[in-house]
Amino acid sequence: LKGLHMSQQFDVLVIGGGPGGYIAAIRASQLGFTAACAESNPYADPKGEPRLGGTCLNVGCIPSKALLHTSHLFEEANHSFESQGIKVGKASIDVPTMKGRKDGVVNQLTAGIKMLLKKNKVTFLAGHGSFVGKEGDFWKVKVGADEVLAKQVIVATGSKARHLPNLPVDQKIVMDNEGALNQESVPKKLAIIGAGVIGLEMGSVWRRVGSDVTILEAMPDFLAVADQDVAKEAAKLFAKQGLNIQTGVKIGDIKVTKKGVSIAYADKDGKEQKLDADRLIVSIGRVPNTDGLNAEAVGLKLDARGFVEVDGHCKTNLGGVWALGDVVRGPMLAHKAMEEGVMVAELLAGQAGHCNFDTIPWVIYTSPEIAWVGKTEQQLKADGIAYKTGKIPFMANGRALGMGEPSGFVKMLACAQTDRILGVHIIGANASELISEAVVAMEFGGASEDLARICHAHPTLSEAVHEAALACDKRPLHF
Ligand code: FAD
Repeated sequence: LKGLHMSQQFDVLVIGGGPGGYIAAIRASQLGFTAACAESNPYADPKGEPRLGGTCLNVGCIPSKALLHTSHLFEEANHSFESQGIKVGKASIDVPTMKGRKDGVVNQLTAGIKMLLKKNKVTFLAGHGSFVGKEGDFWKVKVGADEVLAKQVIVATGSKARHLPNLPVDQKIVMDNEGALNQESVPKKLAIIGAGVIGLEMGSVWRRVGSDVTILEAMPDFLAVADQDVAKEAAKLFAKQGLNIQTGVKIGDIKVTKKGVSIAYADKDGKEQKLDADRLIVSIGRVPNTDGLNAEAVGLKLDARGFVEVDGHCKTNLGGVWALGDVVRGPMLAHKAMEEGVMVAELLAGQAGHCNFDTIPWVIYTSPEIAWVGKTEQQLKADGIAYKTGKIPFMANGRALGMGEPSGFVKMLACAQTDRILGVHIIGANASELISEAVVAMEFGGASEDLARICHAHPTLSEAVHEAALACDKRPLHF
């Protein structure tokens, strides 16, 4: 094509190098397409190029888990070591070192994605992607100062934190996830607005290292998306740990003062309250990222909330344009974005690309962890589905007691008629890993009896999943 270098013409161009985008590009290349991935992350790597990995690797999943790990060890050192006969005196926290280790993990992983692209022959394009229009069979997309032609374009531009109106985020006093993950010292008093996954994880990190944390949540129910049995247990355990969570509040004026922030709010009884804190984390959800994509100019349809409109196969209203991950409907989870990335690439290759939205696991990396897959009990009730329940506390699990982690339970919900597993809900140590067994079982259309008949290693936490399956048939052996 005239005026264009051949290397700027691709079968597949992915806009966005987060987990959805880089996976789509790698899978497309594996399937024989020429593929490129454009990324405009303002945070540069040591070479001065935009970092790959998106929200997940830079300011999401990975850094939060690194801080959760360090802060968990710190809490163990101060609150659990002594009871096990380990005397180390009072541990203190060095926040810059904790942050430095987190940054090291992020650097290593984001650089690793660049290597993965190279290894898989995906061309990395540094720059903001913006639709120009059609040119024959190709879509023309501006990436930075260059123009790129691609037969298929995958929009994987992700999401960004939702902010409160009239409250600028300076990432020092008023923060979103980016500032929350990069604090250089422990705030004495930390306020968090939003008791969702991010609010709870960030609240846990900073509480463990010494902050007095108050989380204000507008919804009347705590963790409304989770099974309410799990949510109740979590509320009890978090309160015991010292996380002050208030639900059903109505946020009023927020003033940034010389000393920090002052938040006026009405509590659940309608009483006017004031919360003064050194810093505030705003974690009230995330909004799709379509800034500067020029979606309107090419007629790419967005829904009422600004998400790119797609069908179950991530097809947009435009031929040859796909969208996936946080910028489209569905849960904002990295593994959901990656699944969709694989699906779209395989569909492009004429394969039966598929993403089962009913078996996407959810995890909250608090202590104890919370994880679930499938329907909650309240959803089954609302749908009028008859179910049976098997519930086993970790208190009845030898490994959990040995680890000093007796809190929580495994709850399995199976169809009353067919015994098919409909949902599994875990609150307890390593719930993030334990949930995989339930996901596999559900993917295979398994029944609780299938899990009940499978040999589980002893002593392991997974025996609680086994016992919950047995309990669905009212025959647990250890409870
Ligand atoms: P993103 O990761 O947001 O990536 C999109 C990329 O596109 C970005 O790098 C952006 O710079 C780039 N981009 C945007 N527009 C353009 C453009 N026009 N041109 C070029 N590039 C562009 N999920 C989990 O599953 N597990 C967790 O534990 C977890 N923890 C989280 C913790 C926090 C604090 C946060 C904020 C999120 C967490 N998430 C977690 C959610 C997870 O990070 C997202 O679901 C995931 O990153 C979505 O992937 P994505 O590829 O759709 O978008």
